[in-house]
Amino acid sequence: MDRVDELYDRFSRGGIRKRRLARAFHSVTWFGLLAGLSGLKRAIDFLLALVLILLLSPVLLILAIRGFRKTPRIGRWCEPFDQLRGIPVLFNVLKGDMAFVGPRAVAPGELSPREREARKRYSARPGLVCLWFIRKRANIAYSAEAASDSEYVESQSVRGDFGIALRAIPALLYGEGVAVTRDTVSILGLSIHNITMTDALEWIAARIQAPSPSQICFLNADCANLSYRDTEYKAVLNEAELVLADGIGLKLAGKLLASEIRQNVNGTDMFPRLCETLAGAAAGIYLLGARPGVADAVGKWIAEHYPGVVISGCRDGYFSAGDEPAVIAQIAQSGAAVLLVAFGAPRQDIWIRRNLHATGVKVAMGVGGLFDFYSGRIPRAPVWMREIGMEWFYRFIQEPRRMWRRYLVGNAVFLWRVMRERRGARRAAAGGAA
Ligand code: UDP
Repeated sequence: MDRVDELYDRFSRGGIRKRRLARAFHSVTWFGLLAGLSGLKRAIDFLLALVLILLLSPVLLILAIRGFRKTPRIGRWCEPFDQLRGIPVLFNVLKGDMAFVGPRAVAPGELSPREREARKRYSARPGLVCLWFIRKRANIAYSAEAASDSEYVESQSVRGDFGIALRAIPALLYGEGVAVTRDTVSILGLSIHNITMTDALEWIAARIQAPSPSQICFLNADCANLSYRDTEYKAVLNEAELVLADGIGLKLAGKLLASEIRQNVNGTDMFPRLCETLAGAAAGIYLLGARPGVADAVGKWIAEHYPGVVISGCRDGYFSAGDEPAVIAQIAQSGAAVLLVAFGAPRQDIWIRRNLHATGVKVAMGVGGLFDFYSGRIPRAPVWMREIGMEWFYRFIQEPRRMWRRYLVGNAVFLWRVMRERRGARRAAAGGAA
């Protein structure tokens, strides 16, 4: 190209237009787009929202004609925005007000950024689904929402978001809780204390000071099945001072019987929180059960994680009937206030009922395989599996030969019985109304 042509290319109208076009094209290339949309997450949100809007455009058009409904919300960096209700919320995602995954969009004044924990959540775009949403639906939201949000913000990644989005599918199927919940719920003739983890821990703290001892039973679908045939176990469950709903089976049963279960209060999740409650208190804990060496390993775990907890004693669960009086005497002499018994249901719960007074403890509970988890002998299901209510499946694949009857057959039998109870209750209600 000679000099005249070069000058023409640069400064002529056509040349300038050509260069502008090239620049515009460059900025629309993939990398340009990513940079412009501040990262991969935003780009994915933008593209996905765009695709969904195009796919749903006929529905959106009808909704637009009828007028979009809006709710005022607080977004990223505490910027206020109007969240469109229903499917049009996709426009919020497209615009960048919201993301598919992120902390819940809160109403103005609901969660103050002045609270240290809450502040972090405002550095992320509010999302349509979040960790808190999933955990709440799976009944395992034990910590405050702000804590779950800051956990999300700290560990945020595109892969993590993808996992949350997938876990939101079963969470949506579990449905929302009903506004009115009862304090006691009856399922298959068993009375359950419908309280949260925090309530249960407060209850224990109070009972440690009480003059008479108390028994706590964790009731899951398998326990309900066992109690169906074992009358002694059923009597123990009905006499226990506190019966707590353990697992997703109970949540589903509550849903089917229109008695929403507030939280999945199982021993394994309670254990570290119980240690926290006991740390610094004079009340000691005694660990009885599991294979030789396992309870001792749990004792070591407590000493390492909660050094303030008094460990009154540890003993395995494989002793003869002849040794039983000595075991009971040992617990009584230890002066323990809290006794954890891990023999598996129903044996552990029946054992506690028979020996509660003789052990001299204030609170005793049957905890099944808990020692095996905290000693590291058996790994516990990862959090994401618990969040989708599939902890039982993890247990099943760990020991399929032992667990297939309990879980594959047991869960189906349990739900079938609950459905039968529901039909009976509906029939009785219809009869009463007529
Ligand atoms: N176990 C015991 N003594 C026995 C039989 C069982 O200490 O005579 C222990 C066993 O080692 C295990 C626990 O009881 O640690 C039962 O665990 P499982 O997983 O069956 O309990 P789950 O949580 O399912 O009720």
